[in-house]
Amino acid sequence: MVKRRFFNVVRRALRYGDAGVGLDDIEELGLPSMVHVPVWGGQPGFGDLKVGGEVATGQLLHGSDGGYVLSPVTGVICSVVERTGYLGRRYVRVSIEVSGEDRFDGGLVEAVGGSDFDFLRRHLVSVPGKGDFSLLVGFDPVVNVVVVHGMDEDIGVVTRRLMVQSDGLLEGISYLKQVVRAGRFVLVVCEGISGVSGVDRVEVKPVYPNGLPEVLMRRVPGLSGGGVGFVGPEAVLFFSRLSEGVIDFGKVVMVSGGGMASRLVKVRVGTAVGDILSSLGVVVGDGDRVILGGPMRGRAVSDLEEPVMWDTDAVLVQSGSEVIRAEDGQCINCGECIRVCPVRVPVNMLVRVLASGLYEEAAERYDLDSCIGCGLCDYVCVVRIPILQYIMLGRQEVMRLAEGTNG
Ligand code: SF4
Ligand code: SF4
Repeated sequence: MVKRRFFNVVRRALRYGDAGVGLDDIEELGLPSMVHVPVWGGQPGFGDLKVGGEVATGQLLHGSDGGYVLSPVTGVICSVVERTGYLGRRYVRVSIEVSGEDRFDGGLVEAVGGSDFDFLRRHLVSVPGKGDFSLLVGFDPVVNVVVVHGMDEDIGVVTRRLMVQSDGLLEGISYLKQVVRAGRFVLVVCEGISGVSGVDRVEVKPVYPNGLPEVLMRRVPGLSGGGVGFVGPEAVLFFSRLSEGVIDFGKVVMVSGGGMASRLVKVRVGTAVGDILSSLGVVVGDGDRVILGGPMRGRAVSDLEEPVMWDTDAVLVQSGSEVIRAEDGQCINCGECIRVCPVRVPVNMLVRVLASGLYEEAAERYDLDSCIGCGLCDYVCVVRIPILQYIMLGRQEVMRLAEGTNG
């Protein structure tokens, strides 16, 4: 298997944009009437996931085969449906009718009040700004370095660059240190943004894909080994509020496109993107595309009930006329994708074998595992081959083949 480590010079410098919004512009949207939360690995009708069951905010819900999720609201489970998601991954969507006022999980409240960090480590499987928080506090592999990732992972998205400038970062890091027990914290910020005392600061130029974790891990000294975990600044701010006894499952999301200036909204995790857009007066028409994330790495939603999750930073609406349709064209070997690839993947060859379904060959001979998913090849492809989609599917298939699973 080939895994390249050296970076190419990206000839077309794409700068992270400025969306014209600031921290003072955050609009708090009220609680929705319904939230939806995916449970990966669960089965409908088993575990705690029963229709009619009452749930408290912050309650840990278990699926039948190891899937679990925190309820972001207080309410009643009104549906538990097995679904097929992105790249064919199966999950259970739990929909909760929101009761109104939060009634917080008793164990969580007690643990917060008594600074029971062992309980918090076991219970907080997700927090705003870190969808897989449990990986950070699990013991295999041990996370020694926590990177507070204040750079956005897509051009045009500003959520992290703004949230990392919020008050409470220092307090949040102090509290998080007790939960995570990592020896070192590193704060990654865009150039011009200051750090916090006592935490290593790494400054990144606002040129894409500098903000991607894969790039940082290869370029920043001390991050290249194992045991490194990334959290968004909102995860730190969550712990800052937790240190004051406040449990806040709100997530700040930048919403752009749809004929409006960019907006920053704070919504409860699990809120459907359709509810957010209608609150903002955005009408999604036939042929329009709604994307979770940004233009380079974002993923189009399959329906407007798809929720904002713990680490959703942006929702982008592309009108039908703006959508650049991918085509199933033949590669003309122009070489643009190879020249732009920051890790020198032979993209023209890779996309050929992936299109033929030769996933293992793609990994063994054509650097599938070196790809950092930046999407630059996709962006420059002159015949509009959906290269990144091929790559993501290829990785998923290689994983399935390795695990011997179908979903
Ligand atoms: S997405 Fe394309 S350009 Fe980016 S690392 Fe992967 S192969 Fe290279
Ligand atoms: S940019 Fe597109 S057409 Fe050109 S070599 Fe790469 S895959 Fe082929």
